[in-house]
Amino acid sequence: MDDFRSLNVEAVAPMAPLSAQPLSDAARRFGALPMPNLAWTPEVERETAHLYEKVKAVMPSVEWPFHAPYVKAINDLKKVRNAVILAHNYQTPEIYNCVADVVGDSLQLAKLAAESDADVIVQGGVHFMAETSKLLNPNKTILIPDSKAGCSLAESITAADVRLLRQQYPGVPVVAYVNTSAEVKAEVDICCTSSNALKIVESLGSDRVIFLPDQYLAKNVQAQTKVKIIAWAGACEVHERFTAAEMLRYRADDPSITIIAHPECPPEVVAVSDFAGSTAAMIDYVKTKKPKRVLLVTECSMADNVATETMGVTEFVRPCNLCPHMKRITLPKILDSLVYMREEVTIDPALAVRARRSVQRMIDMG
Ligand code: SF4
Repeated sequence: MDDFRSLNVEAVAPMAPLSAQPLSDAARRFGALPMPNLAWTPEVERETAHLYEKVKAVMPSVEWPFHAPYVKAINDLKKVRNAVILAHNYQTPEIYNCVADVVGDSLQLAKLAAESDADVIVQGGVHFMAETSKLLNPNKTILIPDSKAGCSLAESITAADVRLLRQQYPGVPVVAYVNTSAEVKAEVDICCTSSNALKIVESLGSDRVIFLPDQYLAKNVQAQTKVKIIAWAGACEVHERFTAAEMLRYRADDPSITIIAHPECPPEVVAVSDFAGSTAAMIDYVKTKKPKRVLLVTECSMADNVATETMGVTEFVRPCNLCPHMKRITLPKILDSLVYMREEVTIDPALAVRARRSVQRMIDMG
């Protein structure tokens, strides 16, 4: 492990008083570090210039001096902590492009993190994603920079709700979207993502399946299968705001526009789109089909991040719906996580065994 002082971040501000910064268990194990100097200097400008190149299509140069000192400090501290940062596609471009080691959707992130030899994982995403990372990486320390980063889907259902559903529909298998808490995952038969939901539902050999918590993903799957789906009434507060009327107005303005929607959108939106698919499938569609002008009907930052990877090929129209939970994760909070080793995500070991089984069963299906 690198020595902190060898990384040229020794010009530190005094450490925040411990009374104001309660020491986490992880900080007791790893030790807290001094907060690096966050001045915009010629050295910072020079050392981060290659990273600005990655985001300049979506970030005016006037903003870079605010981000760059954090970017440099975070990248230096990752070496000190032997940490990796996982960033979901909905994280802001400066996180996704400039400090993340692994990017992708929630399951890709957790699976790829398991392949790393890092001691510490910092989750650029929401709480259920950090829990999934902990389930698949039980021996690593998982930090989330803001534990209040929730999800309207994950919060729409509890473990007690699942137990009641089982009483109401005895013998009917229960599929949970990965956007659920570890407590809920522990109660279900198997998990799914938006890319494998149809395959998982049809794999269970049952003519009825309970599908939770996303009612729209459930309806979009129902449109493709004869299995009767019993849906929970949760929704993603970002994707449910899109409407078919809105999509038709975009198309009226530009009949050649390609509309690509996430299946968490209402079925009427999917019906007027050219393609519907998971986050990974949407990115793949843009990269392989190279549409001239595209409307990505999903969280706003994703279009920014795809734009950074497909510069000059596709023009993006951004119907900007931001996820307030994803936006709780910021560069200053990521730095704070690495300095003070907080906030650590823990799961009761007995519960983790049951929750991991549901996730693993999905992974084993390929
Ligand atoms: S975009 Fe929707 S599904 Fe994703 S974290 Fe935000 S609320 Fe949850």
